[in-house]
Amino acid sequence: MALATLEFSRRFAMAHRLILGAEEKCATPHGHNEHVIIELKPTMPFSLGGANALASFAQIKGRWHAWIDDQVDHALQLNAADPLIEYFRVQEPRRCARLMVFPGDPTTEAACILFFFKLRAFLMADGAPFAAQRIRIEETPTNSVQVDAAFIEGLEVARDTGLWWQRADMSINDLANAPKLARDQPGQARQVAQPRRPADVSASRP
Ligand SMILES: [Zn+2]
Repeated sequence: MALATLEFSRRFAMAHRLILGAEEKCATPHGHNEHVIIELKPTMPFSLGGANALASFAQIKGRWHAWIDDQVDHALQLNAADPLIEYFRVQEPRRCARLMVFPGDPTTEAACILFFFKLRAFLMADGAPFAAQRIRIEETPTNSVQVDAAFIEGLEVARDTGLWWQRADMSINDLANAPKLARDQPGQARQVAQPRRPADVSASRP
């Protein structure tokens, strides 16, 4: 079975900043050129003969690579509590679609987790005979983070919430569905976004 495991790699550019971490350097918006490598495990037995493939590569990776190329590439990854989100909502609302919004700081660990959920949603929606087994993001040539299905299964996160990373659509945030800020509703008290608790991550760092 291991022989039929598939691996696909894609390169993308991204920007982010970490507002809750200890490193001041990371709190300034900056970017990385990253690679995301996904490993897929077949969910059906492979038999030699005939097409000799459970599905075409185009069918399996099509939606994933379209999401990486059209949505993830050059997106700005932000903590949901980052005040930059309100800046864009008020000053440059047409660019809100380019914001990838995270529960907590947009670290590479968090990106691996959200990407894993998104990939799994795509595979299930496509009915592909493969399941997400592992995702690795190479942030720099020397730093990478990897999560696998067992890690995701043990993760304490709310499932089936309908958040963007659990939906099989091309979204990278839920800003279009977000309630109007108080500033949009004269006469009401201003609402301040509360920082959420960072995800419990223990991803490996080779
Ligand atoms: Zn960074």
